[in-house]
Amino acid sequence: MPEQLSHEQLLQYAKEYGTPLYVYHTEKIAAQYGKLKAAFQKSDTRFFYACKALTNVNILRFMRSLGTSVDCSSINEVRLALYSGFRPDEILYTANGIAFSEIEEAQSLGVNINIDSLSNLEKFGRRFGHSYPAGIRLRPDIMAGGNLKISTGHNKSKFGIPVKKIDQAIALAERYDIFVRTLHIHTGSDIDDADIFVKGIEVLFDIIPGFKELESIDLGGGFKVPYKKGDKEIDIYKLGEKVYDAFSDYEKKNRKKFSIWFEPGKFLVSQCGYFITQVNVLKETEATTFAGVNSGFNHLIRPMFYDAYHHIENISNPAGTKKKYSVVGNICETDTFAWERSLNEVREGDLLVFHNAGAYGFEMSSNYNSRFKPAEVMVKNGIAYLIRKRDEFEDLLRNQIEVL
Ligand SMILES: *Cc1c(COP(=O)(O)O)cnc(C)c1O
Repeated sequence: MPEQLSHEQLLQYAKEYGTPLYVYHTEKIAAQYGKLKAAFQKSDTRFFYACKALTNVNILRFMRSLGTSVDCSSINEVRLALYSGFRPDEILYTANGIAFSEIEEAQSLGVNINIDSLSNLEKFGRRFGHSYPAGIRLRPDIMAGGNLKISTGHNKSKFGIPVKKIDQAIALAERYDIFVRTLHIHTGSDIDDADIFVKGIEVLFDIIPGFKELESIDLGGGFKVPYKKGDKEIDIYKLGEKVYDAFSDYEKKNRKKFSIWFEPGKFLVSQCGYFITQVNVLKETEATTFAGVNSGFNHLIRPMFYDAYHHIENISNPAGTKKKYSVVGNICETDTFAWERSLNEVREGDLLVFHNAGAYGFEMSSNYNSRFKPAEVMVKNGIAYLIRKRDEFEDLLRNQIEVL
């Protein structure tokens, strides 16, 4: 099975299901997971799919069929993972800033828990003592990631317990006899440099001796995938070697072996996704020619939120002369997907496809401007399945209580 969907396929799905439309290609997910497994085959690893990237239950079930575990960032994601068939021990709950009651709920569901603050660690110790394993999320004070909004490990970040406060975490663990089974770091997203992970590992190696019952080291996610030509992709094979070397060194010196956990989100699902839109209006102005599509940042917010680049193709006119267009949405705010982008000549009615739309695409969509959320299609073994229908008018009124 090819890893890419063809223009013909995408045109066919647009015709069948309408636009705007998210399409996910499972063979690409499987190929990405295969790369991870190959790159880390020498190490004892577990991969927890960071499902906040894309939570459709069919995608969760497909992940499970591949053999991944799942990392959740809210208690509702934990419930979705259980609903999709993951066993509690295959689920990891890594949230931040949550009420302790959510940690109690996660405990009662039997899932793995990473704790993100001293305050919740203390409550955990008081409530559960040694009876339930805990992971501790540390903030390694390493600056990394595509931009500040997606960097989580630096010294102004809200995430994790600052490494400088590690003594307090150790003291709490001792006072309440907490069974600390995992240490966790997640430095950010779009990390293209394997050495960032090595830096993180070195920070952890200094801390490990403070916790006697550790079994696993969780290095988080954030592996960069290319979004545009010339983008650096993380060299996952090099990372696999470096991680193996670091841990086998440590094992030799300290006679202690760990299971190494990762939480890839984007790496697994970014490239599997295509977002198909249709051009409603062409508007020539003195600044640029706008191609206005039947979508907006309500459906794909990454360009506006993170200045993210998404490769765009005109699949209706792939042989057309290249011209420059600014691709914009129809939301009553500036919502620019791309400025002065070179595209094959665009005509009203043409279909524009956004690549790398699998991760944080549909998942971050909203009903802003009372627009419908798009439909989602999953393509598996060449067969397309509708896995979420497009919103309807009733969906906009759902949960509203009419008192006037
Ligand atoms: C978002 C997140 C991930 C996944 O990040 P990607 O950049 O999608 O790989 C992993 N772990 C945690 C704790 C996260 O919050």
